[in-house]
Amino acid sequence: MALPIVPNGSSELTEPALEPISASTTSQEKVPRRPIRPHILNRFPPTSKGPWSDVPDAKWNDWRWQQRERITNLAGMEKVLNVTQDERDAYTKSHEMFHVGITPYYANLMDREDPDCPIRLQSVPKGGELNILKTDLEDPLAEERDMPVPGITHRYPDRVLFYTTHNCPVYCRHCTRKRKVSDPTTAAAKDQLEQSLEYIAAHPEVRDIVISGGDPLTLSDDRLDYILGRLRAIPHVEIFRLGTRNLVTLPQRVTDDFAYMVSHHHPVFVNTHFNHPKECTAEAYEACRKLADAGCVIGNQMVLLKGVNDDPKLVKDLNHKLLLMRVRPYYIYQCDLSQGISHFRTPIATGLDIIEKLRGWTSGLAVPHYVCDAPGGGGKIPLSPNYVVSHDGKELVLRNYAGKTFKYYEP
Ligand code: SF4
Repeated sequence: MALPIVPNGSSELTEPALEPISASTTSQEKVPRRPIRPHILNRFPPTSKGPWSDVPDAKWNDWRWQQRERITNLAGMEKVLNVTQDERDAYTKSHEMFHVGITPYYANLMDREDPDCPIRLQSVPKGGELNILKTDLEDPLAEERDMPVPGITHRYPDRVLFYTTHNCPVYCRHCTRKRKVSDPTTAAAKDQLEQSLEYIAAHPEVRDIVISGGDPLTLSDDRLDYILGRLRAIPHVEIFRLGTRNLVTLPQRVTDDFAYMVSHHHPVFVNTHFNHPKECTAEAYEACRKLADAGCVIGNQMVLLKGVNDDPKLVKDLNHKLLLMRVRPYYIYQCDLSQGISHFRTPIATGLDIIEKLRGWTSGLAVPHYVCDAPGGGGKIPLSPNYVVSHDGKELVLRNYAGKTFKYYEP
């Protein structure tokens, strides 16, 4: 759909007719491609096919092929990595509790030789996973406790978390929902989905739905279209947030048809999970472009992970790249107290130092909220460096980003 140009040179927005996805006009024409300058695109390198170099492009770019060909065992890992003894032992002891799943696309971002590669740390088991601390919790955010019906966590007054599947293209080793993600026996069945939809329809206070899992984009377009359509038909539902890491681990999933389907259900927000600049590839750029051009607002929820992104310069680089991809850095999460992820946890001081080195030193748009999702279901608690030096009666002494102090007087 081309936007007509009006005489003053601006585009006149017209309401597109809602047509079924199968209409004769292709979705590609309906979500028009905007030109992007080469000097921007050059910052997002394409990913090689590595050991899959003989796979034709059509297959490589087919998300279902990527999903089918995922690495799920040691032999698969050996195809792309020189697997260390620690990784081998950790896989043997952990894979039945939390499966391995790595798409060929994401596997090719890993360094074959370096066991500390940030992509490898996120997707290949390590010995640290077997170390369960006394303070670790199976369900650190108490999501199961606040579950009025299976498949819905209703904690905050006006919004719910809606679980649609327990599958993901890549099983992140730092996942906070290890207790059920990757386990096919706990996947949301059809009647559970209906029960969840009925719960939302019966609760007029719910205006915001976080559609999560697992990763909802592992569902087919038709299934998601059905879920989004059912939610959109509920008058008190205002916004959806699709929580997905497909943009990072399987960007091929964001097809033109998918973007076109989503554009029928606006306002749709997409929350994704980039953790490292290496994940900002040409393919990821293209997935974000399609969603942004289709009218989605995309936010990023980075998890602070030791050895992956516990470095202010790296986070700044990541956030600058995200903004170029039209993704707003939204949260930095302090790593939860989930079982078997203590090797990823940093002190809170590390997160505060990252915020201190972003705030004022770069655009406010590149400064996310740093939060700790409180164990036991306390919700997200913001953590911030202290910029109030003193507060004496009506006089405040404030510190700016560069350490200079200023007085402010309250009325
Ligand atoms: S994509 Fe999200 S839900 Fe899936 S394994 Fe990663 S962190 Fe967990």
